[in-house]
Amino acid sequence: MSEKADSLVEQVRQAGVVGAGGAGFPTWKKIDARVETVIVNGAECEPLLRNDQQVLAARAGEVVRGLVLTMAATGASRGVIALKKKYTAAIAALKKEIAGNDGVSLHLLESVYPAGDEFVLVYEVTGKVIPPGEIPLKVGVLVSNVETFANISAAERGDPVISRCLTVTGAVREPKTLTLPVGTPLRAAVDLAGGAAIEDWTIVTGGPMMGEAVADPGRPLTKTTSAVIVLPASHPVVTRKTASLEFDLRKIQAICCQCDYCTLVCPRTLLGHNFKPHIVMRQIAMGLPIPGHPGVSSAPQCCNCDLCGVYSCPMNLPIGRLNKQLAGRMKEWEWEPVERLESYRPSPMREYSLIPVSRLTYRLGLEDYDRPAPLEETDYSPPRVEIPLKQGIGKPAGPVVKVGARVKAGDLIGDLEPGTMGALVHASIAGKVEKVTEESIIIAAS
Ligand code: SF4
Ligand code: SF4
Repeated sequence: MSEKADSLVEQVRQAGVVGAGGAGFPTWKKIDARVETVIVNGAECEPLLRNDQQVLAARAGEVVRGLVLTMAATGASRGVIALKKKYTAAIAALKKEIAGNDGVSLHLLESVYPAGDEFVLVYEVTGKVIPPGEIPLKVGVLVSNVETFANISAAERGDPVISRCLTVTGAVREPKTLTLPVGTPLRAAVDLAGGAAIEDWTIVTGGPMMGEAVADPGRPLTKTTSAVIVLPASHPVVTRKTASLEFDLRKIQAICCQCDYCTLVCPRTLLGHNFKPHIVMRQIAMGLPIPGHPGVSSAPQCCNCDLCGVYSCPMNLPIGRLNKQLAGRMKEWEWEPVERLESYRPSPMREYSLIPVSRLTYRLGLEDYDRPAPLEETDYSPPRVEIPLKQGIGKPAGPVVKVGARVKAGDLIGDLEPGTMGALVHASIAGKVEKVTEESIIIAAS
């Protein structure tokens, strides 16, 4: 690996950059590779989300700079920014920034769900199908979220990740897109968007399809919080996420009619993976565990996008959620992974089976909340932040400050040995360290 690549990997590690799109994979680990193509994932396919498209428009230069640095570090000859055709402001800004950058281009996508799934996106951009259970690297591709590339650019200048751009929407008075310090309580984000417009509300973070329902609005936002969506506590989007596994299993056993509509829309099945969700559900209906059954063993191929359950299943069954639970128990039940095929060929029906986000929004009962959330500059600084020491995949960082210590924004507060999977953590505000645990560090502003 070249000297420049080594240096960027270390700069990104020092800055604590993680994948901003959701799982929080440590970016230093991802870019420590050789690939042919680097893709900026600007699909933003979850309903109601507005942050990536506005970051692309407002910080196009930073995103392109991060992409070009990553291409140089990984030896990639092609850099692609994939975003929806309808993001016209972002497209105009990016066209100016990519001019003169050899090998960098835009790839325009339809507004369908889940266009941002890595497997789907890699196929759309390169025509290659990532085999089940693999990562884009297997086909010579690196994919990361828009904000991650802006953070790579900042890391190269020595600036760590201490804030997060997120959409604050749903049942709030003034939906907004804001950049806030990591560790800010979610409640503060709601207040900054005019407050909740309803009484009994819950927050969904990260998107109505794949996000998480958060009962405690005092929870802090992290480097991976792309949205704070306020919804009635009784809204189906919320109750769907909070039902118990036992309840979900009984529902499937009682009412799955084996129509196979889930299989007909599944983005992984349509890419040619040997995965049929209705067969998994059939096996669940017959009782678990069924070790070695090829249908059930294919559950980890599900990306948990929930498209089948929300959109096509006549019984509205939580298929993605169940597949996730099954995948988590494969080891315990000693299941062998499903057979690996020599090649995977997408279905000829794929192009006719893509689901528009607008129809999905309606099906979710979110059309009243599908409103603009304009990007707004704010100098808001919370009186207190709680910064988690683990904000993604890998080991938690170890605290390197003690109670009573004074810190500046950007100071290192959680460290890891070089080479350890995980991400470093920095103070997001200036202040005094108030509490240190193995999980988080609380800083009171001063
Ligand atoms: S769509 Fe629903 S009811 Fe039909 S097979 Fe799939 S899980 Fe069962
Ligand atoms: S949640 Fe449903 S549609 Fe999505 S990948 Fe899993 S089985 Fe397929």
